[in-house]
Amino acid sequence: MPAWQAAAAVFFTGLLRIRSFNALEPRLSEKPFLNLLGAKPDRTLCSVDTLSRALRVSALESVRQLSVGIVAQAERNKVFREGWHGAMHYVALDGWEPICTSKQHCEGCLVRRIRVKGRGGELRDEDQFYHRFVVAMLLGERFDLALDIEPMLPADLRAATDGRADQDEGELTAAKRLLPRVKKSFGWLEVVVADGLYANGPFLTLAEQLRMGAVVIARKEGDEPLREARRIWSGQKPQQIIEDPQSGERVELWDCPALRTLDSYKGPIRMVLGRVSNLDNPPGPPRDWCMAVTGRAVRLSPRKVLAVARGRWHIENTGFHQWTSRWHFTHVFTHDQLGIQALYWLFFAAYNLLTLFLYRQLRCYGRDRGKDVTRTISRLVDEMLDDLARLDAPLWDTS
Ligand SMILES: [Zn+2]
Repeated sequence: MPAWQAAAAVFFTGLLRIRSFNALEPRLSEKPFLNLLGAKPDRTLCSVDTLSRALRVSALESVRQLSVGIVAQAERNKVFREGWHGAMHYVALDGWEPICTSKQHCEGCLVRRIRVKGRGGELRDEDQFYHRFVVAMLLGERFDLALDIEPMLPADLRAATDGRADQDEGELTAAKRLLPRVKKSFGWLEVVVADGLYANGPFLTLAEQLRMGAVVIARKEGDEPLREARRIWSGQKPQQIIEDPQSGERVELWDCPALRTLDSYKGPIRMVLGRVSNLDNPPGPPRDWCMAVTGRAVRLSPRKVLAVARGRWHIENTGFHQWTSRWHFTHVFTHDQLGIQALYWLFFAAYNLLTLFLYRQLRCYGRDRGKDVTRTISRLVDEMLDDLARLDAPLWDTS
């Protein structure tokens, strides 16, 4: 079986939301699925064990290029021409833990001790194995795409990257490997968006070196430059107040253009505070959003900065949450450091292609079926599965 057919089988497993390799197994000898893969319809393509092995030995860079190529082609087709806020292009970074098990482990597993309840109700400690990644996601008004993924390495594998074999990698270390690669693949990205973990000098410096702006949530009240901004804001009236009956929100905004109190970052950092409360009567307790803004992102208005920071939520909602609840991205299809990465790039390719298809080709499709986008997508996947049963000739001409 050629490698591309194995990759195609995994790609369609992701696209058609087949829940496990066990569920895939019978399809590998069914005519419609073989037609879909361009395989000879008179015999079984391979076993799922073979597929799993193929993932483990796949050339990661070429699998990644498949996923990257889809987004790059969409960019050439001017899909992202309009950009998002301020007509710029935003990538969100966030940690993701899709796999967690006490049963099997591989060399890429991270390990933690957890307390579990035994059969007789007694408490005992056991090892839990898990895989964590940093995911890069393109944020947009109408849709979000999965751009790239990088594993957080356990200490012994980490030794080969930065020589630090004393501890497992944290999210920031993996993110610092990921962001330059993402920028290299998608040079048109302009701003990186991230949560409080990333509000530090070294990360903002990396973004600056990559000529990217940053909008990062600042959470630690005692840390610079938030501390200095709070000092300046205290007693100041908000510079802008927006009441939006449509969203039912009142937003007060404070802006602090160029602070230089963070020693580990050379340039100016703009701080923005958005205090959001609802318009209920009486109003609910306000919530503060503090953002550190650098580079080309400083040209956004305070209101836009807040919108971008709140848009970071897309990576958890349209990304992680959907991949778990609607797709089967957190099922352990194969348990191997390289195999898991290859699988995610193929699944990302499937997710991106379906997302682009829905939003570009079927603009009216979503409107016809109401606003529930996830339901719309589920419906489309059901229709594809129904259509697959009727596929009686090869889909591709592979002669
Ligand atoms: Zn593992």
